[in-house]
Amino acid sequence: MKIGFSTLALFMSSFEQFLETASKDGFQLIEILCEGPYWPRNLLSLEKVDLDVFNSYDIDVYIHSPTIDLNPASLNPGIREETLKQLKETVDFGIKINAKAITTHPGLIHRFEERVRKYGMQHSIETLIKANDYAMGRGIKFSIENMPNKYAYFCNNAEEHQFFIKECGSYATIDTGHANTTNDVESFFKMKKIAYYHLNDNNGEKDQHLPLGEGNFDLKLLNGVDKGIIELNSYPNILKSRDLLISSNIG
Ligand SMILES: [Zn+2]
Repeated sequence: MKIGFSTLALFMSSFEQFLETASKDGFQLIEILCEGPYWPRNLLSLEKVDLDVFNSYDIDVYIHSPTIDLNPASLNPGIREETLKQLKETVDFGIKINAKAITTHPGLIHRFEERVRKYGMQHSIETLIKANDYAMGRGIKFSIENMPNKYAYFCNNAEEHQFFIKECGSYATIDTGHANTTNDVESFFKMKKIAYYHLNDNNGEKDQHLPLGEGNFDLKLLNGVDKGIIELNSYPNILKSRDLLISSNIG
């Protein structure tokens, strides 16, 4: 397995620090979390010379789009438009740094009513079809991530996740921790068009983002996985998870 980590753990560091850390510790991938200081609209105004650092390392770069306060499923057209605009900006930034793929979330509806949830789902799919078409046109993979097992979230089970992937024409990012909160973890590993994985663990109920091996996620499911981004908020725990994958010969 090619192993990498989410820059969540190194929040506020520079691109060069991300890449240098990854390279020093022998990682082959990183995923840049485009929130706050890494907001795509701001990154797009950086000069080419500021982005040249990405050519200096032999590390494959993946991008997590901004999702905080955005929602492709929103019943409010203004929020959907802004979400699409920011997804397109994320694609444009990805092209500039030669990223391999962009991951985003399918959104949510905070109403316990199936009728309203379905309506939101149509909006989400419409928004994500447009984003996927834009990404395809620019030549980058667009990927939708599965969410924890909560009613409000879309793609909170493998069947709905596969439905979104098919409808949107996109790829799938499988988050092992999110999958582990459902009662059918294995189905996620059989899905079609998986771009890569987010690796983290939990107790099977909450999205705790524990290091691998510290929850009840079955690590054997990772056999055959070719690209995994360890997504935890502490760098020492990333190293711990990576060492466990290597020592137990997984992937
Ligand atoms: Zn995510």
